[in-house]
Amino acid sequence: MADRMKRVLITGAAGFLGSHLCDRFVQEGYEVIGMDNLITGDLKNIEHLFKLANFEFYHHDVTKFVHVPGKVDYILHFASPASPIDYLKIPIQTLKVGSLGTHNLLGLAKEKQARILIASTSEVYGDPLVHPQSEDYFGNVNTIGPRGVYDEAKRFQESITMAYHRFHGLDTRIARIFNTYGPRMRLNDGRVIPAFMGQALRGEDITVFGDGMQTRSFCYVDDQIEGIYRLLLSDYHLPINIGNPDEITILDFAEEIIKLTETDQKIVFEPLPTDDPLQRQPDITKAKEVLDWEPKVERAEGMKATFNYFKSLTKEELFKSEHKDFSKHNRH
Ligand code: UDP
Repeated sequence: MADRMKRVLITGAAGFLGSHLCDRFVQEGYEVIGMDNLITGDLKNIEHLFKLANFEFYHHDVTKFVHVPGKVDYILHFASPASPIDYLKIPIQTLKVGSLGTHNLLGLAKEKQARILIASTSEVYGDPLVHPQSEDYFGNVNTIGPRGVYDEAKRFQESITMAYHRFHGLDTRIARIFNTYGPRMRLNDGRVIPAFMGQALRGEDITVFGDGMQTRSFCYVDDQIEGIYRLLLSDYHLPINIGNPDEITILDFAEEIIKLTETDQKIVFEPLPTDDPLQRQPDITKAKEVLDWEPKVERAEGMKATFNYFKSLTKEELFKSEHKDFSKHNRH
């Protein structure tokens, strides 16, 4: 007879990555507790799980004391605003969830003797002076810029996690997540993929910020979830990059999107937001070695699946995009 089902708490459960993690752990036969305060998350992403016996949902803000009755084996802390437009709209919550929220969850992990994996980010590298970024690079972050609330909260999150590991012997994992995309991204979160796809679907111009020579490297969500799953079950406690090294300039990416969506949208240039990193590409040597993991989904395939998702949204959802406000918000 197998052991009792392992019980996992996933914060940010109604968000993009959180909801995909809930799906994965439910499928693997875990008992899953999803937690979210629904500031940026959407219950639509997890409503299909509500009927399942091994899923429960707590509507809770993790910056307040977190109470979960019974045993917890694993905690995955994925609650956080995660797009530049959100940091500008809710900067204090962004700081609090990465700092106070993480502190509460580390305390819970200690109490429950659970393993905890925290969602860190490539933003800890800031506007990187080293390319590609490997885990031993310390980063180049502007503490007081508009992105500072996210970047510094995540850097603090890594520090406090390592302190709990060293001081309390807590079993910890740190995933440095690079740009990830796929179904359930929020159409109006200002990120480049929903922005471009939304613009194509609404028949608007494609807005490239700056000269479009800045680069990003996009990882499909299924690959990302597989990397996180393997990291949780590994015995590696230092930070590890999880992302796709396939790098592209934003201008080339805009052209790819125009081809993919079979539209003939015009590209227009808008000013580059403050502290927008000029280049980003993960060095995933460590993930390959330690987790025997690398991304498998090509950008063309992943973008097609993502576009199909955006196409399936209602007209109302499609047109309530707040993206247009983004360039106005993101200035000094
Ligand atoms: N970007 C753009 N047009 C948009 C939205 C974003 O050119 O309508 C650019 C943005 O300036 C950045 C890149 O796309 O250089 C990725 O932006 P995103 O917000 O998706 O993520 P992050 O900057 O956090 O990597």
